[in-house]
Amino acid sequence: MNSFSEDDAFEAAAMPLSQRAMARPNAAYLDSLNPAQREAVQTLDGPVLMLAGAGTGKTKALTTRIAHLLATGTARPHEILAVTFTNKAAREMKNRIGGLMGEAVEGMPWLGTFHSVCAKLLRRHAELVGLKSSFTILDTDDQIRLMKQLIVAAGIDEKRWPARMLSGIIDGWKNKAITPENVPVADSGAFDHKGPQLYAAYQRRLLELNAVDFGDILLHMVVIFQKHPDVLEQYQRWFRYILVDEYQDTNVAQYMWLRLLAAGHKNICCVGDDDQSIYGWRGAEVGNILRFEADFPGAHVVRLEENYRSTPHILAAASDVISANKGRLGKTLFTSRTDGEKVRLIGHWDGEEEARWIGEEVEAMQRGTRGLNPVGLDAMAILVRASHQMRAFEDRFLSIGLPYRVIGGPRFYERMEIRDAMAYFRLAVNRSDQLAFDRVVNVPKRGMGPKGLAAIAEIARDNEIGSIDAVGIALERGLLKGKAGHAMSEFLQRIEQWNLQVAADEYTHIELAELILEESGYIDSFFAPQSDEEIERSEPRKHKDLEAPGRLENLKELVKALENFENLQGFLEHISLVMENETDEAEEKVSIMTLHAAKGLEFPAVFLPGWEDGLFPSQRGMDEGGTKMVDGERISIGLEEERRLAYVGITRAEEVCTISFASNRRVYGQWQSQMPSRFIDELPPDHVEVLTPPGLYGGGYGAAGMGGSASPAIAGMAGSDLHEKAHKADVYNSPGWKRLQARGAQRRMSQPSEARNMTIDLDAVSAFTEGERVFHQKFGYGEVMGIEGDKLLIEFDKAGSKHVVARFVVSADQADDVPF
Ligand code: ATP
Ligand code: MG
Repeated sequence: MNSFSEDDAFEAAAMPLSQRAMARPNAAYLDSLNPAQREAVQTLDGPVLMLAGAGTGKTKALTTRIAHLLATGTARPHEILAVTFTNKAAREMKNRIGGLMGEAVEGMPWLGTFHSVCAKLLRRHAELVGLKSSFTILDTDDQIRLMKQLIVAAGIDEKRWPARMLSGIIDGWKNKAITPENVPVADSGAFDHKGPQLYAAYQRRLLELNAVDFGDILLHMVVIFQKHPDVLEQYQRWFRYILVDEYQDTNVAQYMWLRLLAAGHKNICCVGDDDQSIYGWRGAEVGNILRFEADFPGAHVVRLEENYRSTPHILAAASDVISANKGRLGKTLFTSRTDGEKVRLIGHWDGEEEARWIGEEVEAMQRGTRGLNPVGLDAMAILVRASHQMRAFEDRFLSIGLPYRVIGGPRFYERMEIRDAMAYFRLAVNRSDQLAFDRVVNVPKRGMGPKGLAAIAEIARDNEIGSIDAVGIALERGLLKGKAGHAMSEFLQRIEQWNLQVAADEYTHIELAELILEESGYIDSFFAPQSDEEIERSEPRKHKDLEAPGRLENLKELVKALENFENLQGFLEHISLVMENETDEAEEKVSIMTLHAAKGLEFPAVFLPGWEDGLFPSQRGMDEGGTKMVDGERISIGLEEERRLAYVGITRAEEVCTISFASNRRVYGQWQSQMPSRFIDELPPDHVEVLTPPGLYGGGYGAAGMGGSASPAIAGMAGSDLHEKAHKADVYNSPGWKRLQARGAQRRMSQPSEARNMTIDLDAVSAFTEGERVFHQKFGYGEVMGIEGDKLLIEFDKAGSKHVVARFVVSADQADDVPF
């Protein structure tokens, strides 16, 4: 496996001749570059560094350089190694090169992410580190599970020393290219002094399983290159040109891997921006880019200063925020544009209102608003700091039918086991659901081969009935015999029974869901078969494979999600919306993604929600980052990284950038009062327009002011008893807000018309006090235990404790008077 002559020779032969023939030094693609970019593109030999701010055309120059290498015949596609950070960025790079060359680019086998390129290399040389080339790549869940087993086996209390912690330590070592043999003495105390041993045990276990984790993909390649100079030399010769985008985010292992490879031809071109280094928490070393000239003596350094992406206001806002960081090179950025709107800032009552308002805004922009031309959904993105923020947007967009896509996010409802389970639920609700039947008829195995399935399909067709009824006929006619006949007969009976149970209301929908998963045999299918003796000895059942425990966890999570719905039908309807939303890729959609995933991308309109201290900057990011001394001053490494993330976020916007925050947010099920982000204070007021929060519509900032009482909503938001009792943080009293508010009063923005109705019904809430007896139309009598936003937490006498909207509740003594 360690020769790469076969497929590479094939790839070389596949290169279109026209590419080699296109040796035009004055090709049109060079015309769209500025002189500095052109210099970076045309300096083909020796190391080149492009260190420049956001939107200055680094990626454009890098891709043009690849096109140039190909067009001039300087390199063949497979001689170019081009790495970037996300699959999306890699795909875009490929497309851009194709666009520049005027034809689809084929045979660029080494253009991809670090991980995809390294995995491909590792498959060729797996045996050099004791793996087979068919190795599996474990995801984080698998990794954690494996570590858990090792921790338990070592007799360590997993509660005190959790697997996640060990995984963080081991990942950290791998990011630094540290193998179990060379863990530094300083780290020997890690994980109760057992870290190094457990690391070694974990690596042994992975080899036994013929598996690697993400960190291994790079680590193994570095080890192979270090221990097998012949292999390294081969690739050093082979990769004549190396290009790296987002170089500021390389970790030590990636850096070593690149340096080893580049030591051959030394034609390495790296581009990046120290202000956009956002993966320090994962071991990225911004020092790598700052050290480039020392690492590659004689490097040609190109600086780009003109930003082509954003309006002057957006650029000014981003520059001001990032200027608060101490440890930076500092760069000049300018734009020749003079047009554009100010960055918009708006505060909301809670996260749901924020999602609602953004939904309205997206629709307004789609129609064309404030004299702007209509903007397509593809042109809009919502960039969040933490993935849990996404849920509010997904739910809101689903309910208003706004198509969206989640990029790089967890696609819970797309997982195999979730789709299987859902298919069972669908059959329980509707026995004629054909797609659901097709999906699970043989899951778990019921011995249905293609012949049996064809017979059922034929009966269904001939009699114009659904497959499930066709099964009944097939059984009657004796067409399904033996094991399959037995299993299908049981399958049919179960479905009929579930149909009755759904209708009968005998079980709650949650109990029923659990029952269905059990009775269908689906849960069972994740366990290894047991022998009679094992059953007799009541031995615990073993999971079928490494993935089984994770899948079972997901199923539990699925059942938990049912709690938010009244019945199976309601849940299924909700999910079908989620699924539908994910399918049609061609349709225009607004994107939802994390700030990290947005690196390198650009959108005409960007929404940056959740700018609240603790959420953004993230408390965890700040706590775990540590500190360092810069110019005699102690600075927080984590906070600076969060600020770079803010810079990345703002600079993704081309035309309109909207920052928002909420004063209340539900985080992991708990309501919390939020303070506006300290980054809001760092925004330059001259470049920011403060928008009227929907709750303040009609009252405005005028005479009543923020603390006035022009409307109950205003009173509720800034000064009423209720507000003070329930929400300690008065978001509108922050210095940044006040400063910006003064500016905002000068110009009022027109609201989407529906926003007027978006006020929270604080009147309704304030009618209640804690401990009061109340009556709810559906849940009956109960006692108010808490007031959260416009919702009440009520302990109902019969229905237990529930969050309900205040509007549907009356005081117990009025219960008879009020018609609902
Ligand atoms: P980031 O730091 O965010 O990754 P970048 O430096 O890689 O940004 P690009 O994405 O390459 O910037 O370019 C930003 C935008 O500016 C793109 O839309 C690109 O097409 C445009 N652009 C780049 N260079 C020029 C140029 N010389 N003339 C006109 N437009 C340009
Ligand atoms: Mg870029």
